[in-house]
Amino acid sequence: MVKILIIEDEIELVKVLKLYLEKAGYIVVSATRGDDGLAKWEAEKPDLLILDLNLPGVDGLEVTRQIRKRSDLPILMLTARVEEMDRLIGLELGADDYISKPFSPREVVARVRAVLRRAGNISRNEASLVTIGELVINLDAHQVTRAGKILELTPTEFNLLAALTSQPGRVFTRLQLLEQSQGTAYEGYERTIDAHIKNLRAKVEIDPHNPKYIETVFGIGYRFHRS
Ligand code: CA
Repeated sequence: MVKILIIEDEIELVKVLKLYLEKAGYIVVSATRGDDGLAKWEAEKPDLLILDLNLPGVDGLEVTRQIRKRSDLPILMLTARVEEMDRLIGLELGADDYISKPFSPREVVARVRAVLRRAGNISRNEASLVTIGELVINLDAHQVTRAGKILELTPTEFNLLAALTSQPGRVFTRLQLLEQSQGTAYEGYERTIDAHIKNLRAKVEIDPHNPKYIETVFGIGYRFHRS
């Protein structure tokens, strides 16, 4: 069963959407505030999110930002004005589709189907497993195993590993790694990467003091060993 989370503060709208989506065979959960919605996302693990832009607590933009740090969850954004939509598309903030209010519930159901179909196709068509030595990195599931054992990585550590292994042998500067692992990079904060690398090595390396996967390149940054 496909589960949909709706984050929308207009309760009447939630009721109508829920009715139509449930009739179409989906399981629907909802929240009326952005912060509650993020908590629900963690707890309910939905397959798709219908997200209002203007929300109390945390707004829709910030909700999207938070989710995109850790997940490719399909997001259908609801906006009150067309101008708002143009601005959002300009921001390329990571929503999969937009619907402007007012809309018909039928239109929402059709868009939900389309977005889910697209999301399904992407995960089937793109190779999402990276295998290096004993490490297997599943980019879709955000899961890493070493010799078949699951390693518990934080989102930052996972992104760091995904960046390094995207081009084994290439030297990444600390600033590049900061940007790739956290989405933003400020000069002066490059050294925070060292702490993340230390933690990552402790989980990934067989002997963290004698790393064979993640190599330090003195004065520059790090690279993943080309095997
Ligand atoms: Ca609203």
